[in-house]
Amino acid sequence: MHLCSLSSGSSGNCIYVGTERTHLLVDTGVSKKRIVDELHAIDLEPEDIQGILITHEHSDHIQGLGVFTRQYSVPVYATEATLTAIRNTDSLGELDTSQWVAIRPDVPFEIEDLTVEASTIWHDAADPVCYQFRHQGHKASICTDLGDYDGYLVRKLSDSDLLFIEANHDVNMLLVGPYTYPLKQRILSKRGHLSNERSGQMIRELLNDHIKGIMLGHLSKENNIAELAYETVAQSLQENPFTSDIRDFHLQIANRSAHSAILATD
Ligand SMILES: [Zn+2]
Ligand SMILES: [Zn+2]
Repeated sequence: MHLCSLSSGSSGNCIYVGTERTHLLVDTGVSKKRIVDELHAIDLEPEDIQGILITHEHSDHIQGLGVFTRQYSVPVYATEATLTAIRNTDSLGELDTSQWVAIRPDVPFEIEDLTVEASTIWHDAADPVCYQFRHQGHKASICTDLGDYDGYLVRKLSDSDLLFIEANHDVNMLLVGPYTYPLKQRILSKRGHLSNERSGQMIRELLNDHIKGIMLGHLSKENNIAELAYETVAQSLQENPFTSDIRDFHLQIANRSAHSAILATD
């Protein structure tokens, strides 16, 4: 199984997940052109994509959906409430809903040789989810846009070989930064975004002896710095029960406006 962030951050999110046979996108929050360019950069064609899974209806996760699915006929998977919210997003233009599939959290489904499962997350959207993927005994988890995590989410994401987790902001940078007070409160709330510190705590709870890669994503442009996110999370992974060298976890930061390294389970 392969996982590759094609774009990550509040200006647009799109992640590729696939096997030799199956090619999926999680979110289409950048333009169709950007998606196509980044797919080409990892040797894929847009026609290869067999499904699009949407986490939630915020524009940085769906703004390319209308144009992409008008040109390429692809099934779109999301929760019922998210599909309704997407249908009500005028800026996407006309949408062909004939290939939309309503999914339910905690009910696994198959797309070709991948087993997909959605899990409920805390975020200020209609019915947001994150996704877990299973293939030949391996597991990849993508979890972004969440104000906080709980035991349920740790159970759902545990045992992953590949992890993509949000590390949105440094709390101090956010507090002294340029955002308005209401926006700061929104980001800091339980339905906002995950701080570097909380991301580190969550990832620590998800560690195991077979992790092949951890990617931090959705970093805030104004309220975070890649090195700070890396150091904060790396710090919380020190002195873990699995390895004395945290480089074994292959911790990385997702690029904001280009594809990142491809994480692989084998
Ligand atoms: Zn977002
Ligand atoms: Zn969001």
